[in-house]
Amino acid sequence: MRFLGIESSCDETGVALVQLLPDGAARLRGAALHSQVAMHRDYGGVVPELASRDHIRRVLPLMEAALEEAGVDLRAVDAVAYTRGPGLAGALLVGAGVAAALAMALGVPALGVHHLEGHLLSPFLSADPPAFPFVALLVSGGHTQLMRVDGVGRYALLGETIDDAAGEAFDKSAKLLGLGYPGGPALSRLAQQGDPAAFALPRPLLHSGDLDFSFAGLKTAVLTQVRKLGPALAARRADLAAATEAAIVDVLVHKAAQAMRATGLQRLVVAGGVGANQRLRAQLDERARRAGWRVHYPELALCTDNGAMIALAAAMRWQAGGWPPHGDGWAFDVRPRWPLQALTPAAPA
Ligand code: ATP
Ligand code: MG
Ligand code: FE
Repeated sequence: MRFLGIESSCDETGVALVQLLPDGAARLRGAALHSQVAMHRDYGGVVPELASRDHIRRVLPLMEAALEEAGVDLRAVDAVAYTRGPGLAGALLVGAGVAAALAMALGVPALGVHHLEGHLLSPFLSADPPAFPFVALLVSGGHTQLMRVDGVGRYALLGETIDDAAGEAFDKSAKLLGLGYPGGPALSRLAQQGDPAAFALPRPLLHSGDLDFSFAGLKTAVLTQVRKLGPALAARRADLAAATEAAIVDVLVHKAAQAMRATGLQRLVVAGGVGANQRLRAQLDERARRAGWRVHYPELALCTDNGAMIALAAAMRWQAGGWPPHGDGWAFDVRPRWPLQALTPAAPA
């Protein structure tokens, strides 16, 4: 069965075709992506109205590119999946509207997918897929959560950020360092030339005993350093970037390890844009080696938003019996706010 996936929750338009093989394995057949980052850069953040309009412009050409790479035409599509939420309402409506119209024209089910379920399941498309149950560290631009995952839709929240998300901490610190928007990748590139011990930055909630996170105080500490340095910042930028990255990564690794101990599980899945961070990957791998558990990551290209994770989540939920035969129907809605824990199991426990 072939699932077309459409992602349009924020500032990336992604379309991909994922094929579910008879043995249950999922294969990515074709994918196309357009990032609006350059368009929003002048505004220092995502402008919702511009985002929606750009999704409209991009979605059909991207779909054609994804199908061409897969070597099939639209008639080969057996279901059309779209991001139903969470995200920007207008942006979500573009993907949902296009998906429902396509599905209706093709006479196939339309499937509304939870964006974070997409992130969470994305490592199943990697060469080294995980198996249930596992602990998931979801670290994206809008979320920082530790979840216990027992199957598709069987998610128990272990802890989450009480203020900023990890990606947000990267982006806001990068902005303070004058690295533009979104600065996560730029900050981590610059950090490679710096000394992470050059500045003593706080590790909020490191020893709180629970599995919650807080990153707002770190951002304030970076701001304090930037002000203190003044014109001297230029020469110390790489050091401050390295110290910031180290502080964020330390907290993530510490809490992930704590979640592994608390659950007694053997597998950790890292998903979301911050999962592309090399320092995070290296430190988690090292911790896993010592503690005897395993870490699974999505392919680098699938860490940030993309259509493949949406098609995959639909395929896995479909396979587990998570949808009625007609899917969500051709009338559609979107859910800009939609907690992951609100999802129900794809199959009865
Ligand atoms: P959400 O999925 O929570 O709605 P989002 O879709 O905006 O948010 P993602 O696309 O998963 O988030 O990830 C984007 C975030 O990942 C940004 O904050 C970005 O700075 C961060 N990011 C991407 N690459 C890296 C990296 N190498 N190091 C650190 N942060 C990174
Ligand atoms: Mg994005
Ligand atoms: Fe995302």
